[in-house]
Amino acid sequence: MTKGVDLYRLQCLDSEVAVKQHRLAEIEAASGENESLRQARQALESAQSLTKKWALRQRDLELETQGLSNKIARSEQRLYSGAVKNPKELADLQAEITSLKRRRQKLEDDLLEAMIEREEAETTRDQAQVHLDETQARWSAQQADLMVEREALQRRLAEIERARAALLPSIEASDLAAYQALRRRKGGLAVVQMRDGACGGCGVAISPSLKWQLRQETPVSCSNCERIIVRI
Ligand SMILES: [Zn+2]
Repeated sequence: MTKGVDLYRLQCLDSEVAVKQHRLAEIEAASGENESLRQARQALESAQSLTKKWALRQRDLELETQGLSNKIARSEQRLYSGAVKNPKELADLQAEITSLKRRRQKLEDDLLEAMIEREEAETTRDQAQVHLDETQARWSAQQADLMVEREALQRRLAEIERARAALLPSIEASDLAAYQALRRRKGGLAVVQMRDGACGGCGVAISPSLKWQLRQETPVSCSNCERIIVRI
């Protein structure tokens, strides 16, 4: 007959393995890039491309404005040079200059808008960079903590494995088979202690005859939940 204390020790080891393996699975799931890091990186990328877009727009408008100013300067030079004498031609030239200046005014307004948009995009980009750096730092610290925890878990699981191997020879094969079958049916908990005269698994009172057997250090089965009750 296997001693109750040995069955109880086996149960404690197996329960601890279950808890530690559950935590290991959680750690595996939390390893690698997480959602907030992905989002922070994405926000930075879109802010960068927006900044680039407005910077290009600004440069295009500057070039266009410059080209137009050169054209206006040439036309004005022609107007005031005295080379054009025909009144109709002079009037056309004057009208062309006026029209070019109107276009330049419009371009300058667009340029101002592009500069404002660019500045705003740059501010957003800088904030996104700070946010990404912070998120990255938090994530790295968290990953380091998880790795430390994982190593500790793996060390403990190896210890349990050794303790379990050392314990198994004290447990009779038929008791081990019964224990394992019970664990599968009872959510992992097959062996419980007697608590205040009741089953530690389901809380139902233990009959006097079973209590007597427990006093002889013989494990008994709970009449209600069927778990193995031991007295330690
Ligand atoms: Zn019970």
